This record gives sequence, C-alpha cells and structure tokens, in this order.
Amino acid sequence: MKKVKVLNIQFDVCTKDEALARILDALQNRSRESAKHIVTPNPEMLLHAQNNASFRETLNRAWLSIPDGIGILWASTFQEITKRSGAIGRLLKGLASLIGLIFFPGSCQRVFSERITGVDLMESICAVSRDKKTPIFLLGAIVGVAEKAKEILEIRYPGVNIVGTFSGSPNDFDFAAINALIAETQPEILFIAYGAPAQELWISRHIAKFPSVKIAMGVGGAFDFLSGLKKRAPKLMQKLGLEWLYRLLKEPSRWKRIWNAIVKFPLRVIRS
Ligand code: UDP
Repeated sequence: MKKVKVLNIQFDVCTKDEALARILDALQNRSRESAKHIVTPNPEMLLHAQNNASFRETLNRAWLSIPDGIGILWASTFQEITKRSGAIGRLLKGLASLIGLIFFPGSCQRVFSERITGVDLMESICAVSRDKKTPIFLLGAIVGVAEKAKEILEIRYPGVNIVGTFSGSPNDFDFAAINALIAETQPEILFIAYGAPAQELWISRHIAKFPSVKIAMGVGGAFDFLSGLKKRAPKLMQKLGLEWLYRLLKEPSRWKRIWNAIVKFPLRVIRS
C-alpha cells in the first residue's frame, strides 16, 4: 500500500473498501501475531504529535493509518501541488487551495480519494465482522454510553457480536479491571474511546497483553455519536467537510481544538 507523510506522520493511501479488505484479511489470520493497531489521525492529532515523540512514534508504528479529516486530504494535496514551489508560491497556493475547498470540496482529493472518519470505519468493521461473528469489545466513554452504543449497533447491524462493554479509563488503576474483562470475553476486535492521544498511547502500551485481540482501534467520540449522546453533523455538512463547523456551533467550548484544526494546522503545513 502506498504511504504518504503529512507533518512527519505516515498515512496509508487507500479507499475504505481497500482498508476493510485488509482488516478482514488480518481477522482471518490464525497466526499468533500481535494485534494490529489502526489509527485515524486528524489535523489536531498531527499538531499534538509534533511535540510528543511517543505519540508520534505510536502513530508511525501503526499497522494502518487512515486520514480522518478533510484537513489531511487538503494537506496531502497541497504537498503534491507545491513540490517545486518557493515560500511565496506555497503561501499563495495554500491560501488559494483553502479558499477553493469552500467551493469545490473535491479539489483536495488528489492523493486520498476519500476521507474516512473513525466512526464510519468502525461501523463498517462491525458490518463486515458479522459473517464470522467476530467478537468485539467496546471500551471507554462515560458510564453507560458504550452499552447504549452496543444496543444501537445491534439494531443497525443484526448479528454483530459485541461480547462486552466497559467505561473504565486509561489510568493505570483501571487496567486490572479491563484486563479481567478482556480475558473473560476474548474479543478479537477492540474499539477504544478515550480520545487522542490517550487511546493510542494506551493501545501501544497494553495491546500485547491481550492475546485474543487481532485489531485495536482508537475511536474518539464514536460511542458518543452512536449512542445518541452527541449528534453528528447533517450528511451535507459532512460531505462539504464542515463537520468541524457543526461541532463548533454545538460545543462552543471546543473552539480552541477547532482553531488548531482549521487555522494552526494549515499554517503549519504551508510553513513546513
Ligand atoms: N473519554 C473517556 N475517558 C477519559 C477521557 C475521554 O472515556 O479519560 C472519552 C469521552 O467520554 C469521549 C471520548 O473519550 O467519549 C473522546 O471524545 P472526543 O470528543 O474528545 O474525541 P474526538 O472525536 O474529538 O477525537
């Protein structure tokens, strides 16, 4: 699979179907390899990784890295069109391509043909896991949310085999309880909602301790969306790459995170 780097973080260039085919292949593998870590970095995570070496290494060691966020698609396209540009050219092309994004969201798909959000990939994995009844565990979010997400997934994807849920936390004092539950339920797929970078660092630290797990993926706020605790942006806004605007309107307290994603990140990419 072709790889591309954005701000020193590696991504796999693939469609959602290609990613799913690779995941299914890993699930069918009977050898006792260690679990495969899937990451879905977004612009905010990339900024964080610039100043956090262990997070950066964890992202770059991942078995599959999928771009979650139109910002990553824009950055990879920008890198492609400014390969031979000087500083002024980069600045002008950067601003023009950002403005172009508003009118032609498809203009950022030169490298990646689609944006794959963590929650969409998680749902698709649930859907394709049904044939073999692959056992799934949902770890994280506030108490009751993973259980509710399980109920919704069972309605949306009849036959999906969710063998356990637990809120817990990424802190060490919760590890024994998580470990006991995973040993008891023997999941092959582990979805973890502790937010970035906690979930990725947790996976990197602990995953080798769970021999049953073949695929582990940090899913951020996915359980909140699935359970209905939080609403996702309308489909049209998602298509236009404006999910961040919807989240800003719904949760104004996230303004700093959104500022980082839509202002700091593009500037950093243009300067890099
Ligand atoms: N979370 C948790 N324990 C923690 C910190 C966060 O369970 O110690 C959960 C939180 O309840 C939410 C998810 O992690 O379900 C992170 O959501 P956020 O909206 O920050 O993620 P994003 O989608 O922005 O990556």
